[in-house]
Amino acid sequence: MKPMKITEIRCHLMQAGAPPQTGWTATGQSVLATSRNWLFVTVATDAGLVGTGEGSGWPRVVATAVEDLAHLLVGQAAGDIERLWQRMRVALMGHGQTGVVGMGAVNAIDMALWDLKAQALGVPLFELLGGQTRPAVAYYVHAATPQAGREAVACGVRAVKVGGIGDVVDRAFAMREAVGPDVDLMCDLHGPPWLAPADAVAIGRALEPLKLLFLEEPVAADDLRGWRLVRDKVALPLAGGERLATLQDFRPFLDEGLLDVLQPDTGRFGGLTQMKKLAGIAEAHAVALAPHSGSLGPVAEVAAVHLLTAIPNALILERMQPDWEGRQHILSGGVQASAGLLAAPAAIGLGLTLNTDFIARHPSVRNTGLPSGGWNAGTENETTYVQARRPRARIDRSKP
Ligand SMILES: [Mg+2]
Repeated sequence: MKPMKITEIRCHLMQAGAPPQTGWTATGQSVLATSRNWLFVTVATDAGLVGTGEGSGWPRVVATAVEDLAHLLVGQAAGDIERLWQRMRVALMGHGQTGVVGMGAVNAIDMALWDLKAQALGVPLFELLGGQTRPAVAYYVHAATPQAGREAVACGVRAVKVGGIGDVVDRAFAMREAVGPDVDLMCDLHGPPWLAPADAVAIGRALEPLKLLFLEEPVAADDLRGWRLVRDKVALPLAGGERLATLQDFRPFLDEGLLDVLQPDTGRFGGLTQMKKLAGIAEAHAVALAPHSGSLGPVAEVAAVHLLTAIPNALILERMQPDWEGRQHILSGGVQASAGLLAAPAAIGLGLTLNTDFIARHPSVRNTGLPSGGWNAGTENETTYVQARRPRARIDRSKP
């Protein structure tokens, strides 16, 4: 590979609309009704090649972090991916545990460096990750209603997820009824800090007859005591990790056998460099990867598909389908979805070109908001524990 030096790092931050089937927007219509932002990053080189990456973890803040890291990277050899990853990590140390925000910035730049290296070598990115163990990876969609589940299955999707807490057991049973026994079903409780572990156990036990592919985030990501309780009391595979930022964050979950499925976010887990390491550690623990993508744009999805077609322990990838209609204008190239599977592009690098004009026409306006579902109206200021206890009768199937 001919040496090439980084000459410029640019952020492309945009306001993205909400997927129509989610509760992320009260109206489902206006782009400004959602707080969703996407951050794409381009890394230019003196060889004329430009790599593309994506970073999440609070994109409006991550964009500033990327710009602040840029001076440590411009002039450096773009091919030294691991060395530059360590350089960025050390640069963040003085700011404390920067979590998914810091790793979101590293993620965006790291992804672009992998794209650059694969372009420079003239191969699709998956070739750098060891080649393919499978030509395509399965994906699942979110379905808020049994009708949405039936429509997804009719389009060839073979796995469906329901989420939230209120009436979740009833909704999961209704979804199983709608999609039948041969479609994989998952349930995501979103790990809210106000869900008591005892309630999570009650929900998990009620879901056991559905033979879920996994129960996701039954308790908060940092409530290890709660995870241990659910692990001991619920006979379902457990998934989590979308809020974790480092290999070290995953250690207690792997050391104690608390997770069966790891869900690092392809936009905020430090990029392909750290994702590949996590996949190896997971393999040693007989654990699979099912990366989180719920809030991500299409660049991170392409990177995830390259990785998941390469590693031996890929389970499934999350996908918003349908998504905001603007998503289809972000890229040329990218992944192809067919019969519930996503195939990696055969073109060199990530295999995509960013439509920066379209992105520029949708500038970021805001990137924070309150959940529009799952709360008791008007009670945002209450102790979060009250939020779960008040509608306790509606959490499981014990309601009259
Ligand atoms: Mg989740």
